[in-house]
Amino acid sequence: MSGPPGDLVARLRALPGMSLLLPALDGLAPAHLVGGAVRDLLRGERSVDLDLCTEHDAHELAGALAERLGGTDRRHERFATATVSARDLEIDVARTRRERYPRPGALPEVEPAPLAEDLGRRDFTVNAMALGLSGEELGRLRDPLGGSEDLSAARIRVLHERSFLDDPTRLLRAVRYEVRLGARMDAETERLVREAVNARALDTVSGPRVRDELLDLLAEAEVPDAVARLDELGLDRALHPALEADASLAAGAALAALETGADRVLAVLAALVSRSPEQLRPWIDRLGLRAAVRDRVMRAARSGPALTEALAVERSPSQLHELLRGEPAEALALALALGAPAPPVLRYVADLREVRLEVTGAELIDAGVPPSPALGRALEETLRRKLDGEVSGHEEELRLALELAGGAQR
Ligand code: ATP
Repeated sequence: MSGPPGDLVARLRALPGMSLLLPALDGLAPAHLVGGAVRDLLRGERSVDLDLCTEHDAHELAGALAERLGGTDRRHERFATATVSARDLEIDVARTRRERYPRPGALPEVEPAPLAEDLGRRDFTVNAMALGLSGEELGRLRDPLGGSEDLSAARIRVLHERSFLDDPTRLLRAVRYEVRLGARMDAETERLVREAVNARALDTVSGPRVRDELLDLLAEAEVPDAVARLDELGLDRALHPALEADASLAAGAALAALETGADRVLAVLAALVSRSPEQLRPWIDRLGLRAAVRDRVMRAARSGPALTEALAVERSPSQLHELLRGEPAEALALALALGAPAPPVLRYVADLREVRLEVTGAELIDAGVPPSPALGRALEETLRRKLDGEVSGHEEELRLALELAGGAQR
């Protein structure tokens, strides 16, 4: 899979930004491309992220790079890393390091170490390769753990047997790479997954770390496969005993997200939660989603099943609007996934959701209607009749709204 070095150099040069980056690295401390970018390069694909590492001072290297590229660098003290931004490029630079986990699930303590050790602290062999970017190392693959062979064999393999206990977010990452790379864990890795699940390793991880990995997993194109794997490995119940990873429901929600304009990831998350939203509410809270996002997911999880029933009854356009107007698009997606009839939902999405009155409350006030709840009711009723096709155009709306408001005052 790695091909001859010449081939790798050609592929490396073809990566976006390399025509700037490689000359800029000339004469600076030796640097390697690491992690996902190397994996993707070997697969003939392009990564979005460029992660560089050096056995020397990362801040110094980042500063010099930023200067040569006419960009800026931001330094992060905790892990001795830095981010260089220049033109369209964003490059993370890290000093090669070793890690020690003070307790399972916690963030690691780090200290400088040679490249080989840095590769040895990573999650899976396919992510534990480095490619030289300068001098004699240019295009040379460092692959001490057999990553390229595992990549060819479509195999996800941890580097040591404590891996999932040290960092249980790797349980979710393993599934993500299986799905992304069309790969499978080897038998030993899968055994360690099940062992970590039984040991309740995920209980040690903070909500936000679970959130980041879970949302990345649910963003995969093949999300139904990912959800099926969560179920098979018992990872759903390890996250929360009431969480039910139903692959066909997830598939339905992902598909219906396209039709309803819902956020695909949130629609799938709502699907996972929809069997027991009340029990799962504290778990969703713990993830630390933005409040608006959390509320959308919870509302969709609660409303989706109820809407499925309500939509089985035939309704006029205005009744449909009344039923669905307060619902997030993810609730509509979930209702469709649960078997709600498609025509009314699609009609609402295509024709009714964006309908607004042309006449405004201010116009009614200008015309002498006193501001009052009756004015609001007159506008509501005008909208209802507009949705049902009984009035159209500004003039008709105004006339009707005035008549209704006047009638209401009498
Ligand atoms: P993606 O294409 O999904 O972004 P990536 O491999 O670049 O893939 P990142 O999450 O950006 O994924 O991580 C970059 C690299 O850092 C990984 O390739 C891996 O080597 C290492 N890494 C990330 N998370 C972990 C982890 N939890 N444990 C060990 N190594 C990790």
